[in-house]
Amino acid sequence: MVNPLSAENDLPLFSQFKPEHIEPAIKELINANRKTIEQLLADNKIYTWENLVFPLENLTDTLQEKWGFVKHLNAVRDTPEWRKEHDRVMLKVTDFFVELRQHPELYQAMLSIQSSPEFAKLSMNQKKVIENYLRDFKLSGISLDKDKKEQFKALLEKLSENKNKFSQNVLDATDNWFLLITEESKLKGLPTHTLHKAKEEAEKKGQTGWRLTLDFPCYHAMISYADNRELRKEVYQAYTTLASDQSLEKNWDNGSLMVEQLKIKHAIAELLGYGSYAEYSLVKKMLKTPKEVMNFLNELIVPVKTKALQDVQLLEQFAAKKYGLDKIEPWDTRYLTEKLLEQQYNFSEEELRYYFPESHVINGLFEIANKLFKITIKEVKNFDAWHECVKLYEMFDEKQQLLGRFYMDLYARPHKRSGAWCGTCKNRIEKLDSSLQTPIAYIVANFRPRIAEEKEALLSHDEIITLFHEFGHCLHFISSKMIYPSISPDHGVSWDAIELPSQLMENWCWEEEALQLISKHIESSKPLPLDLISKLKSSKNFLIGLAMIRQLEFSVFDFELHLQSNIQNYLTIQKIIDKVRENTMVIPIPTFNRFQNTFSHIFAGSYAAGYYSYLWSEVLSADTYNFFKEKSQVFDQTVAQRYMHTILEPGGSKEFMDLYLEFRGRPPKVKALLQDWGL
Ligand SMILES: [Zn+2]
Repeated sequence: MVNPLSAENDLPLFSQFKPEHIEPAIKELINANRKTIEQLLADNKIYTWENLVFPLENLTDTLQEKWGFVKHLNAVRDTPEWRKEHDRVMLKVTDFFVELRQHPELYQAMLSIQSSPEFAKLSMNQKKVIENYLRDFKLSGISLDKDKKEQFKALLEKLSENKNKFSQNVLDATDNWFLLITEESKLKGLPTHTLHKAKEEAEKKGQTGWRLTLDFPCYHAMISYADNRELRKEVYQAYTTLASDQSLEKNWDNGSLMVEQLKIKHAIAELLGYGSYAEYSLVKKMLKTPKEVMNFLNELIVPVKTKALQDVQLLEQFAAKKYGLDKIEPWDTRYLTEKLLEQQYNFSEEELRYYFPESHVINGLFEIANKLFKITIKEVKNFDAWHECVKLYEMFDEKQQLLGRFYMDLYARPHKRSGAWCGTCKNRIEKLDSSLQTPIAYIVANFRPRIAEEKEALLSHDEIITLFHEFGHCLHFISSKMIYPSISPDHGVSWDAIELPSQLMENWCWEEEALQLISKHIESSKPLPLDLISKLKSSKNFLIGLAMIRQLEFSVFDFELHLQSNIQNYLTIQKIIDKVRENTMVIPIPTFNRFQNTFSHIFAGSYAAGYYSYLWSEVLSADTYNFFKEKSQVFDQTVAQRYMHTILEPGGSKEFMDLYLEFRGRPPKVKALLQDWGL
């Protein structure tokens, strides 16, 4: 029988993939790839694009693709058996890619193409692919001696194991925690759907009462709406001590993994002659030096902190007057923010949900994408998925040519990694037989699922922003015209610019015309009324200082952490965050808080020394959105088309600053972001 993971299908047959398929499929591919590479190198005296780079691009893509399926299922449907096989095979994949980038003959062959007269005849994109390979050879230690190369490889292996373990600990610690409440009075203030869900969860476990969990929709509801201050404190404490020495369960403490990981990263940077991991990571970013990054962050701190302090004052006055509180604690801020928002603008996030049934929001989003970018999106029925709630869509350009497809898996459930992301399922690539494979993406989120009495899930405005954000990534990925994965948006775009397309899309969530397209009340069928729209719009920057000072704290902490050369133990990490907080803290943070132990972006994802990318990309997106506004209307097609052609379509084919200059005619302005925040 054919291994379904090895089989070539238009769409992967997720339901047929079994843990025992992983190793044989991946091993076979790796072996075949190794053999082909040796053949490519043996057969050729004069290396060319056609006889080396093009086949190489294809064979690495096949492995990335199959391994991608395995990783994807590990993130959205984590079972012990799947995890075990994933972990076992992961290192083989890491090894293959390190060997590839440390392969001396391959490097020489690639160099020989670059210095041959043929090179000039290659297209700009082909040249860029070769340049990227050469850069990656250097960043993987091609010039190191044999021993050091081995060291480098061992470090990368350890790093991928470490990151994987970190994120498993977060998932397990989250899944393990629950709080069973038997007195309904303790749950006052919580939205009805949260109560229903909590009751369903308890019933599923054969318990009576309400089972509260730390998956994001439940946590968010408790911290934002529970009137019971003690309950808020309890969940805050549980959430901010997950996977740490401070949590009741010590099984998943990430502390020592974090220390080990920082040491590994520093050793990697040092081997390659960089002073810190931060410096090493900037080689592929838009901002080029640690000083540039810190200057950028420092430029924001003063105005943002000033605003944050005003925000706190506002909350304090409100808390004293309404609740007789003489002090605000971190488990009060979300709650008070919601209550103050309700008082000032006379609406609540929860009330807005009734205007946002899933299907209408999604159709509205597609219509907005159509108005701007002339793309059409259609749902596909009857396909193989990893969960019953997954949907699949096709995206077409204005000539009705298929651009690509994407899955949507939007709702929280056990054994699914938290957060939201857009991932690659298949790349756009020119295949060896010259056919073109169109891309496929995954949009994954952890929204509040539909409860029994709802026809479909109702989204909050925050969830809609997340949906637009991930759709922005998806659009970038699918509309890129690049046919070589090395210069696709995923691999070729500077990490600190990667959030531009996603954050740009968020802007439309606040526009009247767009809000009317995505809203339809579940009973009256009416769109969001104008007065609610204007209230929602005027609340956009409500307490923005408080929100943004947190983003700054995360960004500075991450960057400082990766600038260090001497992380001795966990205490050093704690000291760094404490030091950062001297500049960013506006409400005292309790000593038990270990948010860093679940900071998966930097310890499990790709944002190490790059969390600032969110803020930097926000500069780019605010500056880009101003371009629309300068044209006096936010659906301006000329700007949208220009953005499509100069930013999205070229993917990673050029330095991002060059793309941006082409689009905007000048470099980005930090002022645009401060203006957007109303500062
Ligand atoms: Zn993003």
